Amino acid sequence: MIIAKEIQTAAYLFASILFILSLGGLSSQESAKRGVLYGIVGMIVAIIATVLGEGVSGQVYIIVAIAIASAVGLMLARKVEMTAMPQLVAILHSFVGLAAVLVGFGSYLDPKTHELTGAAHSIHLWEVFIGVFIGAITFTGSIIAWGKLEGKVRSKALLYPGKHAVNVIALIACIVLGFLYAGQEGTNGMLFLCSMTAIACFIGVMLVMAIGGGDMPVVVSMLNSYSGWAASAAGFMLGNDLLIVTGALVGSSGAILSIHMCHAMNRSFFSVILGGFGNSPAKGEAKAIEGEVTALNHEEVAGLLKEARSVVIVPGYGMAVAKAQYPIYDMVQYLRKAGKNVRFAIHPVAGRLPGHMNVLLAEANVPYDIVMEMDEINDDLPNTDVVMVIGANDVVNPSAQDDPASSIYGMPVIEAWKAEKVIIMKRSMSAGYSGEDNPLFYKSNSEMLYGDAKDSVEKIMSFLKA
Ligand code: NDP
Repeated sequence: MIIAKEIQTAAYLFASILFILSLGGLSSQESAKRGVLYGIVGMIVAIIATVLGEGVSGQVYIIVAIAIASAVGLMLARKVEMTAMPQLVAILHSFVGLAAVLVGFGSYLDPKTHELTGAAHSIHLWEVFIGVFIGAITFTGSIIAWGKLEGKVRSKALLYPGKHAVNVIALIACIVLGFLYAGQEGTNGMLFLCSMTAIACFIGVMLVMAIGGGDMPVVVSMLNSYSGWAASAAGFMLGNDLLIVTGALVGSSGAILSIHMCHAMNRSFFSVILGGFGNSPAKGEAKAIEGEVTALNHEEVAGLLKEARSVVIVPGYGMAVAKAQYPIYDMVQYLRKAGKNVRFAIHPVAGRLPGHMNVLLAEANVPYDIVMEMDEINDDLPNTDVVMVIGANDVVNPSAQDDPASSIYGMPVIEAWKAEKVIIMKRSMSAGYSGEDNPLFYKSNSEMLYGDAKDSVEKIMSFLKA
């Protein structure tokens, strides 16, 4: 069955509206489920309208391929742990990049496109070139981002002399190859297209390798944006309006998110998207850490909590790993019933996804009114009796404020050390995601409580109740 062009256009319009409603829904936790539903329906409409459109043949094969891919996708999504979600997102971005590269090559080799003449031909050639360029950067950049998030590639920024010069030369080489390729007849430009693809793959690797662990949140949202533009470019190559619109929606919303994240982390947007270009290099030697590390046991921590009037909990990636949000909320309810003022302090890049901590706390039914943003709570910390840092590290690292040699210098952090007492709950003295040591652990008002976060909270709870 083949549907008329007019019906396909109407279906595309309907799907575009659903995608816009989906993005709108995703803007708040209350409406997020509805947003996802709009997205699913929009995608089903889009796929049906495309597969049944004019000029498409071999529908049976396409349906079989979709069925297999959907089964794999469903299996992966059900299996993946919440903590591994960023890696999954990164690898999915790489698929979009690869798809844009393959569509570009397919479109270039398609004999029909060589029947085009004049301006139409030139425009098509540049569409392919730019689409493949963005796709290749997205493809390899996302694979490196996956490696960094999965811990397979070291999270520290790759620094070497002449780094920016190498990137600029690679970019100029791509532009030169573009003009050589566009001047060729038929498919004679293949060699130039392949060379540019190889260089763009190299640029993708270098751009993401140059970003330090602390700045990875922006890279994830930026690659999200790149994958949108890659899809949009594929839409131009295929002459598919819906893909152009959808790609542009993803591209621009990813760019807006990246700008917000940069703002939250006090980073320059252009510096991050250009692989750290313009970043002032770390200044001088890392500051020597002074002080001694002291530790408490669970009973002693319970004793401190019993005496405290105000408690602030700073959750981080370790809370997600330990799935400690449920016992933490039990403990919070218990302390609140005992008349204590207990609140959560959320850093915008805590965890491994934008909004990661908010999602986990919402999952445990923590009411929104006790969940404070970093800017809302920092001024209250000097009047707080106990700050419990649960599985967080980089987001409470004072080096971000006072050590210009630190890779996270300049990033706003939760000023936990200003409280009367700080309890840091983690398994060891290991560094956070940025790879930077944390002087907070050595401060005179800090105490470590070693162990898995969930296990520790449960033990504290049993002492509280005793
Ligand atoms: P960090 O990764 O800095 O620190 C988490 C700490 O949790 C570790 O030091 C680890 O110490 C501890 N931990 C791990 N497992 C457990 C466990 N089971 N029980 C108790 N503790 C545990 O996390 P933060 O949330 O403080 O900071 C987020 C970092 O991730 C930032 O650098 C941010 O830039 C980056 N990032 C954020 C993204 C986002 O979108 N939010 C995306 C990509 C990167 P130990 O091993 O000793 O237990």
